[in-house]
Amino acid sequence: MSTRRRPAATPARPRVAVVGANFAGLRVAQSLGDGFEVTVFDPAPWFEWLPNIHELLSGAKRAADLRLPRARLVKRAGHRFVRAEVTRIDARRGRALLAGGKSLEFDACIVAVGGVHDTFGVRGADRHALAFKGVDDCAGIGREIARLRRRGARAQRPQVVIVGGGLEGIEGLGEILRGERRRRSLDVTLVESGPRLMPDLPPALDARVRAHCAAFDVRLLTRARVTAVTPRRVRLDSGELLRSDLTIWTGGSAPSPLLRASGLASRAGQWAEVTAALQSRRHANVFVIGDAAALPSPLSKQAYHALDMGKCAADNVSRWLGGRPLRRFRPAPKPILVAFGDLDTFLVAGRRVLASPALAAAKEGIYQLTMAQLDPPLAPATLRAATTRLRRGASQVSQPTLALLQRGLPRKTGAA
Ligand SMILES: Cc1cc2nc3c(=O)[nH]c(=O)nc-3n(C[C@H](O)[C@H](O)[C@H](O)COP(=O)(O)OP(=O)(O)OC[C@H]3O[C@@H](n4cnc5c(N)ncnc54)[C@H](O)[C@@H]3O)c2cc1C
Repeated sequence: MSTRRRPAATPARPRVAVVGANFAGLRVAQSLGDGFEVTVFDPAPWFEWLPNIHELLSGAKRAADLRLPRARLVKRAGHRFVRAEVTRIDARRGRALLAGGKSLEFDACIVAVGGVHDTFGVRGADRHALAFKGVDDCAGIGREIARLRRRGARAQRPQVVIVGGGLEGIEGLGEILRGERRRRSLDVTLVESGPRLMPDLPPALDARVRAHCAAFDVRLLTRARVTAVTPRRVRLDSGELLRSDLTIWTGGSAPSPLLRASGLASRAGQWAEVTAALQSRRHANVFVIGDAAALPSPLSKQAYHALDMGKCAADNVSRWLGGRPLRRFRPAPKPILVAFGDLDTFLVAGRRVLASPALAAAKEGIYQLTMAQLDPPLAPATLRAATTRLRRGASQVSQPTLALLQRGLPRKTGAA
């Protein structure tokens, strides 16, 4: 780590640069008081609520439901938002360099850049498979699915291939099946390289998802790797060629090149190593949080951890600039909620799993509550937006539960 300590000539209002303004970065901005001169950078104008973007595939949510304007949120926190990409952080000189050539000096910097879409070098995947990473990506996938449904079966039913059977792939599949329950119009194949679906979560989920899929035209392939993607085909490592009218690439996330370019990671493809207090191991005036950070004890890359890290980093930057000891980040154990369209929702707490369509209300509740916390409905425009989100959310939550009861499916709440 560089020996750089708190600068002797730190101005009365120390300058803090925050790079990235989604979960982690926005929470930093909202936690730093007016004792700091804070500048927040992000090239995109909207905060995006990623945990529910799968719902854009079915139209259960619209892009506007999942976005908040960053400039307004940062301004309301009393800080400055600059819509720009940071290309390098020069920690030794205390300078953030921006695309376009400008730069900004800082006394401390907080890096919250998340990860970037990664197709692991699979031939053709960048060009011919749609990314499942942000609101625009998933809204685009939703439009493609609607187009395929309108096209309907000519000689054969349109085929959708989902690459990745982790959380995103399964949530995406669930949304496609939400539409298939109304009218069968697509064949779907999901390809997962691991030994089972959602390999990082308890095995009971695999069986439950397979049971739901048995009623649909869905093929679930595990221990299968995609080796190439063309406009109409997906090749597997077994040599099998899958027909594909729409290929969706989920799950691949790699460290941002900014980490390596700024000397926060020792090599390309590595997340930024931080101490338990979220301080970079290489530069004391830089803190790295959210998905971009590699903590001493590995932590799942989740939005609620990113939010909590943002709060902790804001406190630690203030402590570091004031020459006080830093606080350890202690991740709160929180369950994971995995939605499977309107067929089911799983609550995973360690090795325990609860499954019930009624749990969709919990996932919706977290979304509604956190969006309202990030953008409190204080003005008529924000109140209107919050009311629209609530109305649309309430209709999505109540309909599937009723539909399941009508079909007589068990409202099973089982532990595994
Ligand atoms: C499809 C999907 C589903 C998910 N579901 C869940 C879930 O159900 N529950 C859950 O807890 N988590 C979920 N996650 C994970 C969660 O979204 C992430 O853990 C969270 O977004 C991490 O927050 P972050 O602030 O670290 O990074 P991000 O949210 O990725 O934000 C990074 C920000 O940095 C900006 N940025 C990047 N590079 C630069 C640069 N060079 N200069 C300036 N700005 C930059 C980006 O524009 C972006 O706004 C999901 C993620 C995805 C993709």
